[in-house]
Amino acid sequence: MSNKQKIIKTEVEWREQLTPMQYHVAREKGTERAFTGEYWDSKEPGIYRCIGCGEPLFNSTSKFDSGCGWPSFTAPLEAEAVTEIDDNTNNIHRTEVTCSRCGSHLGHVFPDGPAPTGLRYCINSASVDLTKTK
Ligand code: FE
Repeated sequence: MSNKQKIIKTEVEWREQLTPMQYHVAREKGTERAFTGEYWDSKEPGIYRCIGCGEPLFNSTSKFDSGCGWPSFTAPLEAEAVTEIDDNTNNIHRTEVTCSRCGSHLGHVFPDGPAPTGLRYCINSASVDLTKTK
């Protein structure tokens, strides 16, 4: 577990900070429509940070073309940066991915990714913000 201080905010504070789409995805576990987010096709180098708390979550070097319509990564920047939770919504087992620091919903991780991990972290663009490498 990370020893970083957790970020706790009220629903009012989250709504003030986030756009309606960001709030829906990050705080209500929503999903943006495929091929509509800002980053699904982005090849810009940089670090993807949590939209809720700014924590660095994914490096563009682990991003790959999955064809699924959402930004896809083989691994998080640091294993402890994300928390993986069993999700059995609609009787379908998936593994939800959240920000360890602020609890924002990021997306899901599936076991159908490429090497080196064989994992596909399928992340909503609305849950992250790219800090481009200068
Ligand atoms: Fe966060």
